[in-house]
Amino acid sequence: MRILITGGAGFLGSHLCERLIGQGHAVVCLDNFITGRPENIAHLMGHERFSFLKYNVCDYLHVDGPLDAVMHFASPASPQDYLEYPIATLKVGALGTHKALGLAKAKQSRFLLASTSEVYGDPLVNPQPESYWGNVNPISPRGVYDEAKRFAEAMTMAYHRYHGLDTRIVRIFNTYGSRMRPNDGRVVSNFIVQALQGKPLTVFGEGLQTRSFCYVDDLVSGIVALLMVESDKSVGQRTDRTEFLSKQTADRPESMHDPVNIGNPRELTVMDIASLVLSLTGSRSVIQHEPLPVDDPKVRRPDIRRAKALLGWEPRVPLEEGLKKTIEYFRKVLV
Ligand code: UDP
Repeated sequence: MRILITGGAGFLGSHLCERLIGQGHAVVCLDNFITGRPENIAHLMGHERFSFLKYNVCDYLHVDGPLDAVMHFASPASPQDYLEYPIATLKVGALGTHKALGLAKAKQSRFLLASTSEVYGDPLVNPQPESYWGNVNPISPRGVYDEAKRFAEAMTMAYHRYHGLDTRIVRIFNTYGSRMRPNDGRVVSNFIVQALQGKPLTVFGEGLQTRSFCYVDDLVSGIVALLMVESDKSVGQRTDRTEFLSKQTADRPESMHDPVNIGNPRELTVMDIASLVLSLTGSRSVIQHEPLPVDDPKVRRPDIRRAKALLGWEPRVPLEEGLKKTIEYFRKVLV
C-alpha cells in the first residue's frame, strides 16, 4: 500500500511510519514540526519507500500519485502542548481533518483518524466503552483538544455515511515509549526525566487520579490491525439525502467504521506510576505535589472488548517491561 501519514514525524506518527515501512508499504510523511521532530524520522530519510513533505495539513493538500490510505495523526497531543497551541489544535482537528478527508475522497483511499480517550472528557463511567458519550467541558482549556477531536470524529462519520468513504476511528489512550520529547509534559516522560536527573517528581494534585498506559509497540499493532481490517458493504456508495436520513437508525450493527478504543486496561494512580518509575530507575528523587490542572480527568481506563472482537488485538507488553525500555531510551537521549 502507499500510505500518507499526517503528523508522521511525531511520537506515534514516526513509530507508525517505521512499522509500515518495515512491512513493505510505501509511506508519505507530512509534518510541520510544531510538536513533531526531524530526528524522529531521520533514520527513514533516504529509504526508497519513504518520502517527507514539510507541510501544514490545514492548507490545501495536494499529493502526487495514488494513495491507498490516509492516516490523520497530526495534532499536538500532550496537554502541555495543546494548552500552548490552542488554536493550532482546533484548526488541525477541524480544518486539517477536513483536508485529509477530502484528499482520501479524491484518491478513493481508506481514511484512519487518530482520535483520543479525551473525547470521554472527565468520564462518569469507568472503564470507558466506545458507546459512552463522554463528559466534556467545551470551554475548559482542555476543550480545544477534546472538542477538536469530537468534531473530527463527527466529520469522519459524515464522510463515511454521506460519501461512502472507507473510514476508521481509533480512540487512543495514554501511550508511552521512545521518541516522546523529554520536555513533552506528559506524566511518564516527566517522571522518567525527573527521576534520571535526580529532580523531584511533580505529582499534580494528590496523585489519586488514574490512567492506563499502553506501550507504543502495542498501540501501533492495534492501529495497523484496524487500518488493515477488511471493509463491509457500506463502503464506496454515495448516499442520496433520503437514503442518508433513513440510514440513521439507532440499532445499526457495530462495524469497523465505528470508533475503536486502543489502550492498555491496566489502571494505576499517578502516585503508583511515580513509585514504579522511582523503583525501576533506582532514583532517590522525592515527590513534590503541584496544583492539579483544570478539568484533569479523575479516572481513565479503556474497555477494549471491541478491539479484541474486531481485530483479535490486545496489548502484550507489561508496564514494567515497557517502562524499562523507555527508561533506557531516556538515559541515552539525556546524556
Ligand atoms: N501529571 C502529573 N505530573 C506531571 C504530569 C502529569 O501528576 O508531571 C498527571 C496529570 O495531572 C494527569 C496524569 O498525570 O492526571 C496524566 O497526565 P498526562 O499529561 O500524561 O496526560 P493526560 O492523561 O492528562 O492527557
